[in-house]
Amino acid sequence: MTTEALLRYDREHLWHPYTSTTNPLPVYPVASAAGVRITLADGRELIDGMSSWWCAIHGYNHPVLNAALVEQSQRMAHIMFGGFTHEPAVELARLLVAMTPALLDKVFLCDSGSVSVEVAMKMALQYQQALGKPEKHRMLSLRGGYHGDTFQAMSVCDPVTGMHSLFERALSRQLFAPRPQCRFDDPWDARDLEPMAELLARHHQEAAAVILEPIVQGAGGMWFYHPEYLRGLRRLCDQFDVLLIFDEIATGFGRTGRLFGADHAGVCPDIMCVGKAITGGYLTLAATLATTEVATTISNAPPGVFMHGPTFMGNPLACHVACASIRLLQESPWQERVAAIAGQLAAELVPARDLGTVADVRVLGAIGVIETRQPVDMARLQRFFVDQGVWIRPFGRLLYLMPPFIIEPDELSRLTTALVRAAAAC
Ligand SMILES: *Cc1c(COP(=O)(O)O)cnc(C)c1O
Repeated sequence: MTTEALLRYDREHLWHPYTSTTNPLPVYPVASAAGVRITLADGRELIDGMSSWWCAIHGYNHPVLNAALVEQSQRMAHIMFGGFTHEPAVELARLLVAMTPALLDKVFLCDSGSVSVEVAMKMALQYQQALGKPEKHRMLSLRGGYHGDTFQAMSVCDPVTGMHSLFERALSRQLFAPRPQCRFDDPWDARDLEPMAELLARHHQEAAAVILEPIVQGAGGMWFYHPEYLRGLRRLCDQFDVLLIFDEIATGFGRTGRLFGADHAGVCPDIMCVGKAITGGYLTLAATLATTEVATTISNAPPGVFMHGPTFMGNPLACHVACASIRLLQESPWQERVAAIAGQLAAELVPARDLGTVADVRVLGAIGVIETRQPVDMARLQRFFVDQGVWIRPFGRLLYLMPPFIIEPDELSRLTTALVRAAAAC
């Protein structure tokens, strides 16, 4: 198929994320990717600043992950998880239990981040039901959050910038506190927790759980907040018998400089969602972890089981690649790499604070953000970035980078230079 034919068919028949079929945004045919480089069908090479939405932490076409994929495909690509178990799933559970906060002991494997969020919220509802408190059925969350695109996940996304108005009649009504204001590096200001404390005091009798992204709010605004918020929230949740759910789908596996966002605060949630980087960007997989307390409470009450079971649960290919990706991470000097990326992002992005077009610059771990004063023209900027030989996909007023951890300093400089140039022209 020629590139023209491919693009024509794509335009006629394919829906891309958040796009129109009648007025689609341009898409670039990609031929291959290796390391931090993406090769387009026309031969142009782009340096990847997105890790394919937080996933490809080791870069693309990694020999170890390729080998894991081939190896497992020759044993068994898939087998149902009802009534069967297998080494890839058990090995993955062992790794996850060992690396996540101490009390998270039970692992529910599922297909995508959104599903793991659905599973987390169903666990919270079944838990409260099991304790004889079915009236505790609502979720508390933060403004500026993002938790996925399925229905219950949408209900806890930011109610204004999310999809609430569009699907209002079909969405559960949840409760929202303002996003924490106290920045990650600022001195802690205890007033930051007050709105959440008030919300819990007023609504705890109907609250099943608080769900939030720890430390870094991702797609809802790329915002970093103070770890003390999570410590205070843990105390509040205990006080009011409300479960605490951490959505670590974006923050997990080293991105923020610690393995998980929770590790910045030393807080253990009752339920935790992981996804995205879990397979190093190879296959779709996620997991919901729960404490033994949550799992046992659910299991000891009618109907005596947790009511969820996806067809592709525990897919051996995905689990085996996930094990390989997690070991690759653990055996790499990822802390030094992420710290070096953070240092370079700060050095090269912070000067953009002086630009009149820029409202804020912030860096945490391997995440660098320039917030502009005006919304950006995504189609125009995407073309600009491709012309500069980089792959960066901004949204709203946010120009941001989250490169693979293996990026070299000169490659990262290409990304930051393009980002600052784009910000200056906004
Ligand atoms: C991406 C994301 C999700 C949704 O994951 P999908 O795999 O896209 O369904 C949920 N929560 C957070 C924090 C995310 O970044």
